[in-house]
Order: sequence, then C-alpha cells, then structure tokens
Amino acid sequence: MDFQRDLDLESFREEVRAFLRENLPDDLAGRIRIGTRSPRAELTRWQRILNEKGWGAPYWAKEHGGTGWSVMQRLVFDEECTAVGAPSQDTGAQKLLGPVLNAFGTPEQKAGHLPHIFSGERQWCQGFSEPGSGSDLASLRTRAERDGNHYVVNGQKIWTSYAHRADWIFLLVRTDTEGKKQAGISFLLVDMKTPGITVRPIVSIDGCHHLNETFFDNVRVPVQNLVGAEGEGWKITKFLLNNEHATAADLPMLRRYLTQIRTLATRGSQRGSVLLERHAFALQLARFEAELAAIATLVQRVAAMEEDESPAAHAMGSILKIRGTELLQRMSSFLVDALGDYGAVAYPVPQDGDGAEPLPMQDQARGAANEMFFRRASTIYGGTSEVQRSIIAKTMFQL
Ligand SMILES: Cc1cc2nc3c(=O)[nH]c(=O)nc-3n(C[C@H](O)[C@H](O)[C@H](O)COP(=O)(O)OP(=O)(O)OC[C@H]3O[C@@H](n4cnc5c(N)ncnc54)[C@H](O)[C@@H]3O)c2cc1C
Repeated sequence: MDFQRDLDLESFREEVRAFLRENLPDDLAGRIRIGTRSPRAELTRWQRILNEKGWGAPYWAKEHGGTGWSVMQRLVFDEECTAVGAPSQDTGAQKLLGPVLNAFGTPEQKAGHLPHIFSGERQWCQGFSEPGSGSDLASLRTRAERDGNHYVVNGQKIWTSYAHRADWIFLLVRTDTEGKKQAGISFLLVDMKTPGITVRPIVSIDGCHHLNETFFDNVRVPVQNLVGAEGEGWKITKFLLNNEHATAADLPMLRRYLTQIRTLATRGSQRGSVLLERHAFALQLARFEAELAAIATLVQRVAAMEEDESPAAHAMGSILKIRGTELLQRMSSFLVDALGDYGAVAYPVPQDGDGAEPLPMQDQARGAANEMFFRRASTIYGGTSEVQRSIIAKTMFQL
C-alpha cells in the first residue's frame, strides 16, 4: 500500500464536492441525519440527478452501466454525500442485489430489474434473517416448494429493513431439507404485492420505523424469479456478503460525527466557557481524532487489499467493523452528553415530517438522541461483533 498523498483521489474529491455544491437541491441537503433511507420521492429525485451525471450506480462496473470507480473513489463519494446529508440511494439494491444480478441473473432478470434499480423507481428489501436464524443464517426455515411453474413460499423473516416501503424483496428460502443445510438454500426475487405477504412494523429504540417482520403465507413466486440454480443460494449469499470490506467501518458517518463534535466544541458552552476550553472535552475530542485517523488508514489498507483481490481483506473487514461500529457508538453517545440538557431531548427525526417550530440548539441537537439509540444496533447489523471476532480468530489465528 502506498502512503503518499493520492493526488488523483484528491482531485476526484474536489470533483464530487463541486458536483454536490452545484446539483444537490437545497431542500434535499441535510435532510438525512440518522443512518436511514430517504423517503421515496427524495430518493428517486436524487437518483435522477445522479443518473444525469452518469453516477447513478457508483458501485457497479462500467460494463454494467456503473461508474467503474475504485473502492477508494466509492468511499470518497460516500463521505462527501454523507457530509452534506445528501439523500440515500437504495444501497441494498445497489450494493447487494445489483452485483448479484450482474453475476448470476438471467438476461430476463437483468433486463427486468436493473434499469429500475438504476432509476430508483423500484425499491428493494433484504429477506435473509429469521427468528432463530440471524448469525446462523444457514439454519433458515422459510420453505419454497415447487408447484408447476411456481414456488410456494411459507415462513417468516424478521428485521427486514424498509419492507414497508419496498416494491420487491430478495429472499433466501429453503428448497431442500435433506443433506447439508447450506445446500438446500435458494435465492428468490419476490414482488411485495404478491398475495400472502404481510408486513408488520417493529419500532426500534430510536423511536423510528425502519424494521419489520415479514410473513409469507402460500406466496406463489414464478420459477423465473429464481436467481442461479436451485440450491445455489448459499454460494450467492457468500458472494453478496463478501463485497466491500473497506466500508465496514462506516467511515463517512464517523467523519460526520467528528465534524459535529468539532462544531459543538466552539459553539456549545458550559457554565460560561466554550466546550473546547474544558479539559475533559478537549482530551476526548483529541482521542476521537486519533482513533478516526487510525481507522481511516486501515480503511485505505483494506481498500488496497480489495483492489488486489486479497483474501485477507475479509478478516481485516471484520476488524474494521468492530472498531468502526464501537467508535460510532462512543461518538454518538459523547455528542448527546456534550449537548447537555438539549441532548436529552429526542427531537423529531428530520425526515419524519418537518415544518415544526425550531427548538433551541435544534441545528445541533436534532436527531442526536435518535442517532445514539440507533447506533446501538451497529454492532449487531451486518454481522455481530462476536461473529466478527470469530472470523478474526479463525482466519488470522487459526483458532
Ligand atoms: C438495524 C438492523 C437492521 C437489519 N436489517 C436487516 C435486513 O434488512 N434484512 C435482514 O435479513 N436482516 C436484517 N437485520 C438482521 C441482522 O442481520 C441480524 O440481527 C444479525 O445477523 C444477528 O442475528 P440475530 O439478531 O438473529 O441474533 P443472534 O444470531 O441470535 O445472536 C444473539 C447473540 O448471540 C451471539 N452469537 C450468535 N452466534 C454466535 C456464535 N457463533 N459465537 C458467538 N456469539 C454468537 C450474537 O453475537 C448476539 O450477541 C438487521 C438487524 C438490525 C439490528
């Protein structure tokens, strides 16, 4: 890995900044604070703007209509978008499903779905986890039984993010109960409007509705919606989960928290003195700066490994996931503490309906408490910290 300043990357960052300055509409900027998905209208509007620039699919190769960016370019793009609070893209569809369809989809599946992901008009959710089958995903029990030209799906998924807004779901199902459990899993694409699907909300500790339980009761899915061969679902899942180790630390969000803490350092005050003049605050800020710099260097290293297709990137991604998410939790808690009385107020999350009277310190405090609560989940989603530690133990120390 080269530790020299990467001038190409710096000029790319300038290009992204200029694009955002010129093209991100004022009414869309800064709306996303918490790590959530934008409302549909905002997401599709932003997707259209990105498409016009040729940046509609930042994670896809050029031959699939994507930008063909390097891992570091994608990270820079995400960092700059997060810094200004640009609307989200449908990242599940872009980062997970898109590459799967490009690699394993039939020509009909590609033609039927990729243009709609690209335009942001068809939104997706991920139906993997089940009650009792999260870390041990291969034990999943949702059944899909063949009946003529259809699969009949029965079972339950849980923690399905944004199922209540999704048009389609990519689903892991059990098509065979014999033999090794991994071998009986298949990957299906299902229209959420199909009769027999029920979505029930789970309101999480941040007071928001991101999550759902999703039930399947005799849901008939055309066999053409099977991706890969029957029983190939585990292979496809490994491919899908093996993407983007360098992003596991959520560096864009860490940088944004740091900016928020720095802003508070000079604007917030306690008993007449600005926060930065208080020793405990300044020391903690310096520690966060140092930890973030260390993570950023590790991200660069893992990105370089990914470019080289090094298998070691996998365990390094686990290290990043643990370090990054633990820091996300500490920084978001610190922000709430530093806001004092204002931090204790769970202001309404910006995207859940604006127009309310401005509250004191709103520009800084708004969403902070929700964010802190939401980040409790960061050491669970995307693979729990315990599971990440097991990956490190096995692959780096052969334990
Ligand atoms: C905010 C959020 C969004 C999510 N979105 C989605 C989504 O869109 N789609 C989807 O399919 N899923 C989603 N998930 C589910 C997520 O993938 C699972 O929560 C995660 O994989 C953990 O599984 P589990 O909740 O069943 O916990 P379990 O696997 O039951 O784990 C419970 C505890 O046991 C520990 N544990 C389990 N196995 C081991 C082991 N082998 N060694 C040591 N410790 C172990 C875990 O670390 C954890 O502390 C989401 C979760 C969250 C929190």
